[in-house]
Parts: sequence; structure tokens; C-alpha cells
Amino acid sequence: MTDREFYEQEHPNTLTKEGEILDCATVRGVFYAAVRQKDSREVWALVVLMRRSGGYFNFTYKVLSDTSGPVEDRCPIRILDLLTPLSTCSHDQEYCRLCNAEITPADGQWLSHARPAQRPEVAGPRCYSGYPYGANAPDGGAPFHEPGGTATCSTCWARDWRDRCRANAERETQARTRARTVRPGTCLRFTRPMQFSNGEERDTFTFETRSTFRSPDSDRRYRIPRWRTDYDYEIVNPTQS
Ligand SMILES: [Zn+2]
Ligand SMILES: [Zn+2]
Repeated sequence: MTDREFYEQEHPNTLTKEGEILDCATVRGVFYAAVRQKDSREVWALVVLMRRSGGYFNFTYKVLSDTSGPVEDRCPIRILDLLTPLSTCSHDQEYCRLCNAEITPADGQWLSHARPAQRPEVAGPRCYSGYPYGANAPDGGAPFHEPGGTATCSTCWARDWRDRCRANAERETQARTRARTVRPGTCLRFTRPMQFSNGEERDTFTFETRSTFRSPDSDRRYRIPRWRTDYDYEIVNPTQS
């Protein structure tokens, strides 16, 4: 059974009665589909995260639409191109790039305000620890709010997701084009050293074929899957063709 058949069977109303899949693809364990609503003719993106944990039958999945701005953003361009364009929207409010709180400028800082149901410590110039943000500020505390976040608006989330997918596809195309200049014998240095299961760490390899490299100073071989798209590298000695 294909992934498409599986999800059509699981969600017959959404995917066969009320809507239909125009095109779909499974990319890195995520199922992406352009779904057209039969009544409105509107086409939206379905994103299904698949998780297989601890054996074949322990299979779980989570169904999302592009309007929830999924983290998984490798939907192929050909599917994005089928989607109904999003309406434009304008929001007066600024949102924090790091924690997505609503923020307002005050004395050179950005302040968030506690909403009625929130605890008062969510307000102030810093991201509240209850929000998912990355690094700490230089003084060790939570980072200060920075504008540039996405409004809490499903259209904006969908726009942001579609933009991310397009940017990833673009990056991947560039990476593949660049990788075509790598020929057997070309020496590559990866920006970050690779770690291998035997504990070895190394960053410089001579390309052989597909995902096979060898050490420039011995006959040892290494497999680096997805080196073309998932890693940054520089070409140390281009081979003459
Ligand atoms: Zn913040
Ligand atoms: Zn919006």
C-alpha cells in the first residue's frame, strides 16, 4: 500500500469525500499532499509526520495543515505550486522572533504584556522561559525580545511555512549543483568534522563515488549519506577534468 492509499483509507472524509489529493510526496519520513476541497475548489497542504518507534507496528502519525505552520518544511515545489495563493493580511502588532510573544517598543526595548490568563512573569523585556527559545543572553538570562516573529494568524503561519519550504528547496538545488563539480579524486573538507561509529573524527576526505569517500592518506573508506545537501564543505584540491 502506498502512503497515499494509507492516508486516504485512514481519513476518507477529508481526503476522498470532501477533498481529493492532487499530488503528494513522502520526504524524509513526512508525507506532503496538495488537497483540493471539492466544494470550494481551494487547495491546501496536508502534512503528516510519521513516527515508527520500537518496531513495525508501533507506528504513530500526526496530521497537520499548512495553516498550523509545521516545523517540517521540505514540501516539494511542485506541490507548493498547486496550493491556492494565500490572502494578504496586515498586523499592527509586532511579535518576538524568538518566543513569538506580542511585543511593543518601550525605551529602546521590546516589552511583552501578560494576557489576562497568563502569569505576570511572562511580561517584560525578556522571553519567558515557558516559550521555546534557543540560546541565553550574554548575561546568562533569557534573551531579550526581538521583533520579526510571525503573527498568531493561520494565514501568516501558512505563508511562513510555504516560504521556508521554498527556501529549503532552493538551497537544496544549489547544493546539488555545487556537488556536481565534485568528481572522483576531489578532496573535500567539511566545516564540521564527521564522527564515525568507531569513534573516529575527521573532516577531510577524497571523494570516490556516490556517498563513498576515502581518507586522503590511507585506503580506509567512509560512507557519508546526504553529503551533497546536509553538510557544508569546501573543495580543497579540485581535480582537473
Ligand atoms: Zn521573546
Ligand atoms: Zn496574518
